[in-house]
Amino acid sequence: MAFNVKTDPQFQAEIHTPVIIVGAGACGLTTALTLLKHHVDCVVIERDSTPSGSTSLSSGFIPAAGTQAQKRLSIEDSPAQFAQDIQHKAHHTAAPHLVKTYIEAIAPTLDFLENDHGFKWEILSDFLYPGHHQYRMHTLSAKTGEALVQALESACKKGDIPILTSACVNTLWVDEHQRVLGVSLQRPTGEVERISCDAIVLACNGYGGNPELVKQFIPEMVHATFGGHTGNDGAAVLWAQQLGLELADMGAYQGHGSWATPHGILITWALMVQGGIQVNKLGLRFHDESCGYSEASLAVLQQPDSIAWQVFDQEIETIAQTFPDYRSAYAAGSVKRCETVEQLALVLGCPVEPLKQTLATLGGAEPDGWGRVTQRALVAPYFTIKVTGALFHTQGGLNVDAQCRALNPQGNTLPNLWAAGGAARGVSGNHMSGYLSGNGLLSAMAGGFVAALSIASQLGQEPLEISP
Ligand SMILES: Cc1cc2nc3c(=O)[nH]c(=O)nc-3n(C[C@H](O)[C@H](O)[C@H](O)COP(=O)(O)OP(=O)(O)OC[C@H]3O[C@@H](n4cnc5c(N)ncnc54)[C@H](O)[C@@H]3O)c2cc1C
Repeated sequence: MAFNVKTDPQFQAEIHTPVIIVGAGACGLTTALTLLKHHVDCVVIERDSTPSGSTSLSSGFIPAAGTQAQKRLSIEDSPAQFAQDIQHKAHHTAAPHLVKTYIEAIAPTLDFLENDHGFKWEILSDFLYPGHHQYRMHTLSAKTGEALVQALESACKKGDIPILTSACVNTLWVDEHQRVLGVSLQRPTGEVERISCDAIVLACNGYGGNPELVKQFIPEMVHATFGGHTGNDGAAVLWAQQLGLELADMGAYQGHGSWATPHGILITWALMVQGGIQVNKLGLRFHDESCGYSEASLAVLQQPDSIAWQVFDQEIETIAQTFPDYRSAYAAGSVKRCETVEQLALVLGCPVEPLKQTLATLGGAEPDGWGRVTQRALVAPYFTIKVTGALFHTQGGLNVDAQCRALNPQGNTLPNLWAAGGAARGVSGNHMSGYLSGNGLLSAMAGGFVAALSIASQLGQEPLEISP
């Protein structure tokens, strides 16, 4: 699909809507619901036959500080602590204005979905994801991204928000001042339709599904499996380039070092957080697994055959069984149980001695050779899963201001173009090691909420104010 920007001040369309939202993932649907609250009509345009996106493939865990759900559990958290955690993980290189905006907006966003649309948020309080200092991962009871998209879509349907599916936006039509007048969209039959608008939000995620752009911006992941939605093929980046807009943090992405192979299923990093380890096919550890799953992607890809084995024990396996993704992997046969180290070595295809030594080094109270304090040794029976490193989604995109308005290199906003979620730069700095768990849905949902408030304000419906 070619993505173009065309100039025609006389642009005409069959249909007009105040706001066009491109993409029906977490970002697009949150934008639409927030616009509804502020009495602004919109049309969501989605290339797939049903909304899914990377959101649907995700675990659906959204970090937020200061929500009603946290207060119900007496979890003491603050946006300031959350901001600190984000910046610490990003080595203090995350765009400060977006960190501030998103951490302030995400709690009102989740509270709004709870109060107005009946979302029942639960909080993962079994363990802390690396880098988070408080229990703040919000999820619906199913603990899947699919459930999140379904809940958002169903709320949109109840609010009579039109979601135009099987409709791929391929052209933005602008006037000589770069005001977006409307779009062309292509149907699977090849038929083309036009819609005009007063404002547009790019919520069509990043470029993980576009191998050319991956090669250009993050060449180290060019051979990695892409675990995200293939329809996210860089439309926003390609339009931005043609509009002469600024792109930012293009070296950032969420990788994952725990993608079951050959089954292609995400294995929760909770296994590592709880004391599991990764070993290569020589039976050796190769990094500090407590750092984070994003940087683990590259560490795994650099091992022989680009694979590693997750190794854990019964105590960890019991916790893993509470995760739907893990249960799918288990049902698919990814998880192997080994009664002894010898059996484990057989499954891994490695010599027994180095593996025995690897296991024997676990359990010290002092940092080990990789800088990790493993706390306890693993005990037989062992469980193991073969994994590889995957690219989940890109974190670079359009540079936006604190209202999610697209910026040009001179720092000026365009008249009516907003971008959020994976289409815009994130809050992970410019490197994959800067990704703190949940930064993806944080940017998508808080960004969608903020963009909608800004549009409502610009279209004269409501004052710009972040509140649930
Ligand atoms: C396996 C996996 C697990 C993850 N787990 C988590 C997690 O637990 N927590 C977290 O915070 N993040 C997680 N992420 C990241 C998270 O999924 C994304 O950051 C987030 O879903 C981005 O939301 P979005 O709305 O921007 O994009 P998407 O959900 O991808 O939605 C974009 C939509 O735009 C549509 N689209 C694209 N181009 C066009 C076009 N030209 N015309 C019309 N429609 C178009 C796409 O079809 C898609 O439906 C995970 C990612 C993966 C892959």
